[in-house]
Amino acid sequence: MQVNLHKNARTTPAIRRKPQASTEPTRLLAERYNLSTLTVRKWRERADTEDASHRPHTLHANLSPAPATPRCKLRPWIDRSETKGNETMKTPQIAIIGAGMTGLACARALTDAGYAPVVFDKGRGIGGRLATRRTAEGWQFDHGAQYITAASPGFQTLLEQAERAGALARWADGGTRPHLVGTPGMTGLASYLGRGIAIRQGVEVRALHATAQGWALHLAEGTALFERVVVTIPAPQLVDLLEPAQPLTKAVAHVRLDPCLTLMAAFDPDTPRPFISQADAEAPLAWIAQDSSKPGRPAPVCWIAQASPAWSAAHLALDPEVIVARMLPLLCERLGTTTDAVRYAAAHRWRYARVAVPLGRPFVRDPSGTLYAGGDWCLEARVEAAWRSGEAIARDIIGG
Ligand SMILES: Cc1cc2nc3c(=O)[nH]c(=O)nc-3n(C[C@H](O)[C@H](O)[C@H](O)COP(=O)(O)OP(=O)(O)OC[C@H]3O[C@@H](n4cnc5c(N)ncnc54)[C@H](O)[C@@H]3O)c2cc1C
Repeated sequence: MQVNLHKNARTTPAIRRKPQASTEPTRLLAERYNLSTLTVRKWRERADTEDASHRPHTLHANLSPAPATPRCKLRPWIDRSETKGNETMKTPQIAIIGAGMTGLACARALTDAGYAPVVFDKGRGIGGRLATRRTAEGWQFDHGAQYITAASPGFQTLLEQAERAGALARWADGGTRPHLVGTPGMTGLASYLGRGIAIRQGVEVRALHATAQGWALHLAEGTALFERVVVTIPAPQLVDLLEPAQPLTKAVAHVRLDPCLTLMAAFDPDTPRPFISQADAEAPLAWIAQDSSKPGRPAPVCWIAQASPAWSAAHLALDPEVIVARMLPLLCERLGTTTDAVRYAAAHRWRYARVAVPLGRPFVRDPSGTLYAGGDWCLEARVEAAWRSGEAIARDIIGG
C-alpha cells in the first residue's frame, strides 16, 4: 500500500492513529508518544493519517506588509464600571468558556443577577452537545442529545418556561411518557437560554493562565484578561487548557467520558418506519430514532443511530466515510430496508459524549476562588446535570 509521508515526517501512520482512537487528554498523549501537543491536536482533528502535499496550494504574487500592531497583547475584555450614588461599583469581569448547557445555565443565572459575563465558544453555533445539523439539501438531524427530562424542581420550571416560549415541545417517542425536545431543533433550548447574553461564537480559547492582572485567555486574535473564569468544556479538554501544575488538573484526572459515533441518514418517503425510537444497550446501534417524527421538523424521513460506547471506542479512529459504510447497513437492517433507499448519510464523531466516571460534585474551584470548572461530567450524562453544574457555579459566584 502506498502511504504519502512528508520526507521530514516525525510520526508514522500507526502513531498518528493513536490520538485519533483515544479519548485521553492531548497533553497526556503528547508525553506518551514524545510529540508536541500541536502535533497530537493536528492528527486528532484529521480523519486520515497521510501528509498533505507540501507544495504551496496558492502562489502569492503580492506580499502584504507585516501588520503594524502586534497580534498578541494583554487587554481587559470590557471595562464595566457603573456609578451608584458617590460609589463606583465595578462588576467583576467574568469569562465563561463553552456555550453548552453548563455555560449557558451559568451565564443566564449570572446575567439575571446583574452580572455581564462574556461567553466564548469555538463552535459556529451554540448548544454544544445539544446539537442540530441542517444540510444544504434541507435535511435536519439532532445528532447530539435526543430529548430532555427533568428530575429537579428548578430544571422543571425552566423547561416549563421554555415550553411556553415555544423553545421546547413534547415528543411522543413511543416510550411510557412524552419527552421534551427543542424546537425547531435541539439547539432551540440553547437559543432560549442564551438570549441577551454576550456570546463570542467561533472563538477557541487555546490556553488559560494566571497573571498578576487576572486570568489570561489565549485566543487566535490575542489575549484577553478576566477577573474570574468559568470553564465548562469536557474534563479531558480542560486538562489541555490549563498549566500542568494547576490544581484543577489533578482534581478532574479521574473523570472519564465515553465516545459516541452517530449516524445521520435520510430515506425515501415510502421507506418503512417500524418504530419511533428503540434502545438496545447490547447492540452495536444502541439507540435509533426517527428524528423527523419530532414536532416542528421538516417533512423528510430522517433517522439517527448512535453506536454503543464499546462499538464507538473500537471504531473511533476510522474515517467518517468508513464509519457511515459500517453503520448504515446495520440501521437499514433494523428498519427493514436497504441502502438503495438512502438519500443522505453522514457520521459525527463525539469524542467526549457520555459521562462514564463523574467528578462526584457539581463543580470544582481552584484555591484562588477565581477559576471554576463544571459540566455534565461533574454529575452524570444528562442535560439536566449540565444545567445543575452551571447553576451551582453561578450561585457560588453570586454568594461569594
Ligand atoms: C450523542 C449524544 C446523545 C445524548 N443524548 C442525551 C439525551 O437524550 N438526554 C440527555 O439529557 N442528555 C444526552 N446527552 C448528554 C448531553 O448532551 C450533555 O450532558 C450536555 O449537553 C452537556 O452539556 P455541557 O455544557 O456540559 O457540555 P457541551 O455541550 O459539550 O459544551 C461544551 C462547549 O464548549 C465548547 N468548547 C470546547 N472547547 C472549547 C475551547 N477550547 N474554547 C471555546 N469553546 C470550547 C464546545 O464547542 C461546546 O459548545 C447526549 C450526548 C451525546 C453526545
